[in-house]
Amino acid sequence: MATLNLLVAVSLAYVALLFGVAFAADRLAAKGRSTWLRSPLIYTLSLSIYCTAWTFYGAVGYAARSGLEFVTIYLGPTLVMVGWWWGLRKLVRIGRSQRVTSIADLISSRYGKSNLLAICVTVLAVLGITPYISLQLQSITLSFSIFFDETNMRGFSETRLVLWIAVGLAVFAILFGTRNLDANERHHGVVTAVALEAVVKLVALLAVGIFVVWGVAGGVGPALARIDASQIGQWQVNGGRWAAITFLSAAAFVCLPRMFQVMVVENDDERHLRTASWAFPLYMLLISLFVVPIAAIGLELMPKGANPDLFVLTVPLSQGQDGLAMLSFLGGFSSATSMVIVAAMALSTMVSNHLVMPIWLSRRGSGASVSGDVRHIVLVSRRIAIGVIMALGYFYFELSGGGSALASIGLISFTGIAQILPALVGGLFWRGATRTGALAGLTVGFCLWVHTMLLPGIGSELMPPSVFESGPFGIGWLRPQALFGIEGLDPTVHAVMWSLALNAAVFSLVSLLTFPSPLERLQGAQFVNVFDHSAGPRGWTGSVAQSEDLMIMSQRIMGGGEAQAFFREEAARQGIHAGLPEPTPAFLERLERKLAGSVGAATAHAMIGQIVGGSSVSVEDLLAVADESAQLMEYSSRLEAKSAELTRTAAKLRDANEKLLQISQQKDAFLSQVSHELRTPMTSIRAFSEILRDTEGLAAEEQTRYAAIIHDEALRLTRLLDDLLDLSVLENGEVSLNLGTGTLAEVLDRAISTALSGLERPIEIRRRRSAENIVLHTDLDRLAQVFINLISNAQKYCDAPRPELVIAVHDLKGRIAVDFIDNGSGVPPEAQKMVFEKFARVVHDKAGGAGLGLAICREIMNRLDGEIVYLADRTGGAFRVILPAAAEMAAQ
Ligand code: ADP
Repeated sequence: MATLNLLVAVSLAYVALLFGVAFAADRLAAKGRSTWLRSPLIYTLSLSIYCTAWTFYGAVGYAARSGLEFVTIYLGPTLVMVGWWWGLRKLVRIGRSQRVTSIADLISSRYGKSNLLAICVTVLAVLGITPYISLQLQSITLSFSIFFDETNMRGFSETRLVLWIAVGLAVFAILFGTRNLDANERHHGVVTAVALEAVVKLVALLAVGIFVVWGVAGGVGPALARIDASQIGQWQVNGGRWAAITFLSAAAFVCLPRMFQVMVVENDDERHLRTASWAFPLYMLLISLFVVPIAAIGLELMPKGANPDLFVLTVPLSQGQDGLAMLSFLGGFSSATSMVIVAAMALSTMVSNHLVMPIWLSRRGSGASVSGDVRHIVLVSRRIAIGVIMALGYFYFELSGGGSALASIGLISFTGIAQILPALVGGLFWRGATRTGALAGLTVGFCLWVHTMLLPGIGSELMPPSVFESGPFGIGWLRPQALFGIEGLDPTVHAVMWSLALNAAVFSLVSLLTFPSPLERLQGAQFVNVFDHSAGPRGWTGSVAQSEDLMIMSQRIMGGGEAQAFFREEAARQGIHAGLPEPTPAFLERLERKLAGSVGAATAHAMIGQIVGGSSVSVEDLLAVADESAQLMEYSSRLEAKSAELTRTAAKLRDANEKLLQISQQKDAFLSQVSHELRTPMTSIRAFSEILRDTEGLAAEEQTRYAAIIHDEALRLTRLLDDLLDLSVLENGEVSLNLGTGTLAEVLDRAISTALSGLERPIEIRRRRSAENIVLHTDLDRLAQVFINLISNAQKYCDAPRPELVIAVHDLKGRIAVDFIDNGSGVPPEAQKMVFEKFARVVHDKAGGAGLGLAICREIMNRLDGEIVYLADRTGGAFRVILPAAAEMAAQ
């Protein structure tokens, strides 16, 4: 019997060989000499990770226990491969066009890139695979223990052995699966090693089979006779279980993360599927060919109570075939390790992409890019994920006690993973499927699976027998193996039926009731109609006719000169001296890069794709284009806002400029008016003073008359200068008010006496003193100045033969108005608007002033918060002074 040392040495040598193969394959792939690595054969062989240790050891045990039912495990995938070939092709096409990295990624990107959904699928996959990992641990442990005899077992318990195997597998998976990071998550080395393992396990099983049939039974005929005689021949076929398990294995074949990894992610060429569709069923046929003979002969040869799961090992050993047993051990070892590597790789990708990275990125803030530290985080998180997954498998093994038959553990995993099927198939074929529907279906399926299969499978620690008898919390219709009171079903059929049926029903119903988001709709269309949207192999080639289109487009984007120079340069590079360059891939790539500088990478890619690719644009491209246009729009709206602001500023500047112009014109007009007003009296003063100086013998009365004129003119000048000064002080707001209290009657009295003093023919003034008994609190002197001006104006300009001035006081909606109305002809209508302006004079005569009086009145009233207006509807000159509201006090 082989010793443990030899076994360990062989295993290590085998692992070293696998490493060597993987390393060499990676080297070849890196050098680009990997055509045979990408052959349909390698692809088909890599699919064989479907056949794990469960199939290698478990199928024989399954056959020994349940007859031909083990066939269902092969039947499901065969049906998928043959009958649903087109569905797989669609999956592979989508995987390629959407650059999908795992099944969680596929589901999440189908349903609007929902990370929540990816997390759900990841968690479900990790939990679903856990029993499976423990299955591999169990089978390797069992196979090791077969080679132990008493001396080897010294101080070595089975639990310790499992732990060491788990650690060994974890290290193995980490070394294999996370050696490098590839953007497409392709691993040529691993796939090649897996293909080699597929050959080893097939050869091992065939060798044992041939030995059993020809070496032990003595030929095909006797072997068949022995099978008939054994209990396998007696087994009844249970139709329900057959259908359920066939369906389950078909579903698992599509949904298992490791199958998705080799079938979709690692696929190099869609056409490989065509070969695999017949070659893989053939592989499964070969690997299952000798299952029944080995089981039958094993049952016959081995003592009662021997574990039928190990017949593949124990039968050769019992016949003294140590070498064959060793080969068989390597076959089982291959089955377990290849499954663990690929599963751990697929799961750790999902965990790091959908659980660790989003958390890490959100904690890091937005600045992260795919740089060295991110790579480091990804690698570390994948390694830790593999460790955690292996640890979960180990704990499941410990919890379930490792006692169950391999096949039933495998079915638990299959059912868990199959919960992804409704969301996956719905997503591929039904545009109406929504994210909420997928989430709801997955949740329902997952809960039912945990309740009806996972927990009952672990055993009494987590689910006491009372739950089986009377349901959780005594709720009878929730009994894990008799949901809704339907009893008598096989537990597996029961769990598969309820979990998948309710999962699918909830998924469809919720999808019908909810609306997909725009992104989901877009992705849904891309997935369902993937064959309309994506070209097969990537890479652009085009005809010269397309070069013209490219030229036109480029000119539009880069501008004529630059585009022509670029095309000329490219043509010269291709050796073409007149005409446009050929649209070779290299040229297109450079053009794309050049255009990207102006319109953004995504837009450039989409534009060239439109012209050359002939294919429609991928969703990714569309979204990126939308992103870029959103940025452009934001930029242009910012520009618009700026230009609107500039327009407003320009308008303000124009207004200000106009005002300045006006003011400057007013100033010029004012200066010329003033100089004119000053010049007139100055001229007469000069003229008369010259006469006085130069004329000798001027009569005394003449002298007096001239001197009087000079005096008058000087007075006028002084008055004018006083008025100007007063006006400018008022206009500049520099005047300070001298507030005081007095009655209106007093102010009027003072004004009248001042205005009329020294006049030979004073105007007759009529007033009603009783109405004037109003107390004012304002600048009384300034108010009197206004009154004086109005009274003297009436005096000056009233042309009636008997001039009269009526001063009337009114109450005008709570304010006091004092009207000054004379019986002259007044101000003509066209001049009425003007009279308050500076230098406004209706009649130019000597009697009149400079036309500043009313302007001063208006300024004073403004300062006093009152008003002065001309009353147009009266016959004579009529002015109204409205007293300031705050200045009045209640009439006494
Ligand atoms: P001035 O200081 O020359 O009197 P004002 O500004 O006081 O100038 O008056 C402007 C013009 O309004 C006068 O030239 C005159 O023609 C006209 N005006 C003012 N008051 C009366 C009135 N009571 N009747 C007729 N015209 C008047």
